[in-house]
Amino acid sequence: MNFDPETFKRYFPLFSQAENRGLVYLDNAATAQKPLAVIDAVRDFYLHSNANTHRSSHRLARRATEMVEGTRRKAADFLNAASAREVIFTRGATEALNLLAYSLCSRLQPGDEILLSTAEHHANIVPWQMAAQRGDLVLRYVPDTAGIPQFDRLEESLSERTRIVSLTGGSNALGLCPDLENIARQLRGRALFWIVDGAQLAAHETVDVRRIGCDFLVCSAHKFYGPSGIGLLWGREGLLEAMPPWQGGGEMIVEVDLYSSNYAGLPHRFEAGTSPLAAIAGLGAALDFLAAQDRAAMAAHEQKLLQQLHREFAALPGLRLYSQPQHNLGILAFAPERGSPADLAHWLDEKDIAVRVGHHCAQPLLRAAGWTATVRASLAAYNTESDLVALVDAVREFLTLEESAAPVGAERRADDLSALQLERLASQRSWQDRYRELMRWGKAIGPKPEIRRPQNLVRGCESEAWLVHWMEGARHRFALDSDSRVVKGLGALLLSQADGGTAAEIRALELEALFAELGLARHLSQSRSNGFYALLRQVMSSVEGAG
Ligand code: PLP
Repeated sequence: MNFDPETFKRYFPLFSQAENRGLVYLDNAATAQKPLAVIDAVRDFYLHSNANTHRSSHRLARRATEMVEGTRRKAADFLNAASAREVIFTRGATEALNLLAYSLCSRLQPGDEILLSTAEHHANIVPWQMAAQRGDLVLRYVPDTAGIPQFDRLEESLSERTRIVSLTGGSNALGLCPDLENIARQLRGRALFWIVDGAQLAAHETVDVRRIGCDFLVCSAHKFYGPSGIGLLWGREGLLEAMPPWQGGGEMIVEVDLYSSNYAGLPHRFEAGTSPLAAIAGLGAALDFLAAQDRAAMAAHEQKLLQQLHREFAALPGLRLYSQPQHNLGILAFAPERGSPADLAHWLDEKDIAVRVGHHCAQPLLRAAGWTATVRASLAAYNTESDLVALVDAVREFLTLEESAAPVGAERRADDLSALQLERLASQRSWQDRYRELMRWGKAIGPKPEIRRPQNLVRGCESEAWLVHWMEGARHRFALDSDSRVVKGLGALLLSQADGGTAAEIRALELEALFAELGLARHLSQSRSNGFYALLRQVMSSVEGAG
């Protein structure tokens, strides 16, 4: 195998910055880091070629135009498209899917069906819901078992009315990638459009749209080491030709009259307005960069790490493992049996291990599977064995701490804040009186040695503060402790509003405004205010982390 992750990692300057030397970056499914060549290309565009494309006749405009069309050819090679005319630049996979939903659905009849799966990213669900509402279309889903789509049973959900099948090429929540050949077999000969959401797929495997046999494929450059703000929509030329344009404006027309316009041919008819030119320059560099790598060896390296991670995590007592090592693009999804996923992610962050926690823009999947939130570690080719060791050790340490901690429930002791009246605090005339009242509120927060553990520490508070969160049915409960009376007072203010609320109620609270209205933002020192905001952030992230 011709791949050395350590050498590969040196292409990525973020890792050699002093503050990032100890960083273990395992949030690649959200976005990958950028090699120097990509960073340089963005900068060089502004230094040497900045001009708008197509419309102008001068030297710089020609150069920018050549760069854009050159990148389009590289993108066509990257996807093995039949022609560069089949490649549309979009802001990302999300915009490409919105374009398809708008344009393809505008020709459908009420009652026509769109088939999706429970494992789709919200970007491949919400645009179809919007289109379905506009056109009275019907959404259907691939059969699933406990939330996991059974792609080999896709035919069961097809009907005479199915016009669009839009499915993931790899789930960002679980890594799960369907057998595309099998899907192609089930869809063969049917009069429908097959769209592959390749946002995760393109980051890990070479994509060959002609071999897959789909009609459209979308992806985002930032997932495969390119810049953010640029993505690709590939479509069969004949199909794109027949589709109405999505957005109107400059660049996508040949001629504009007062009441009608002639649209440009492919690909420009789908690229209204000025394109993100520097991002396209960066994309070109990312495609060159990838073309120079042994992608099969990169994928094999990622798979080796993934298998090893699954083996080691499966052996950790106290951990629930949700992802499977087979047919997985590079994602490990898990949660602690005790303690919350948000606490575990917070603990990992303390150790400079970047993972993601929450619903991963895949709420239907998590809901159908019965999980509230998961922790996701996602791989890229620059991850090394030592990254895995750091992750496994840190998770093991967390689980051991949880195990040795007070019995389940002992930590869950909220203070009774019902006697604290906001009106009384607000009615204090002078700042001194209000401050005294806040100190009195702080007394409502009793000592809780059982929660004074590193994973409960709230970062950003000048004085130490510990916060725990748990659920009682749909209600969010919190317990706080601190050595500082001011922090306790501020915490009592915060929890008097948030403790016991549902997610929707807590989201609707305007706590920053309340903080300002009470004059706290004005009178308290910056570091005290920061403490309040840190507690507020922690409360909100616990709510979001719980799904
Ligand atoms: N589809 C999948 C599977 C994804 O993972 C993502 C992003 O995480 C998207 C679509 C949306 O991509 P973007 O946010 O780059 O438009």
